[in-house]
Amino acid sequence: MPEKILCDYCGNETTNDSEFCIKCGSIFIDDVYCLNHSERYADGVCAICHQGYCKKCGLRVNSIFLCNEHSDYEIYEGMARIYGSIDDSQINFLKSSIEKEGFHPFIYNRKATPMHLGGSDHSLFRSAGDSRNVIINEIKLVVPCSEVLEAKQLINDLLSGGDIVFP
Ligand SMILES: [Zn+2]
Ligand SMILES: [Zn+2]
Ligand SMILES: [Zn+2]
Repeated sequence: MPEKILCDYCGNETTNDSEFCIKCGSIFIDDVYCLNHSERYADGVCAICHQGYCKKCGLRVNSIFLCNEHSDYEIYEGMARIYGSIDDSQINFLKSSIEKEGFHPFIYNRKATPMHLGGSDHSLFRSAGDSRNVIINEIKLVVPCSEVLEAKQLINDLLSGGDIVFP
């Protein structure tokens, strides 16, 4: 029976047969190599695509390891933003749609819940050194990092379906 352990890096509860922490991407076993560089040890496992990458191919953003391809995701308390809108009825519709498919979405409304998520507002907004425009009143739909790719695909399908009328 696997025993419960805590990730040294982020404190997330995991089991001693895990190869990496699903929350922060820290690797627990030896001999994990970068997906792009077979001769380099991986520095972490991307929290979104779950592939190992070296320091060059990935980085820690607010203590969560992300590969270069996925480092643009905004991460809030281990959840990643997959959609944002100022229209809360649209967000609620998308949330219930992907919930029905078995995902675990959460609505992050900056105005209403900064204290719930802890920390100051400022720390919740990751700036990866870019000048991306942050929509201040945006309501964000976030899902656990491990659900991002599939949930985002579903959202894209819903939005491009054309036959959806938002209430
Ligand atoms: Zn961890
Ligand atoms: Zn990735
Ligand atoms: Zn690499």
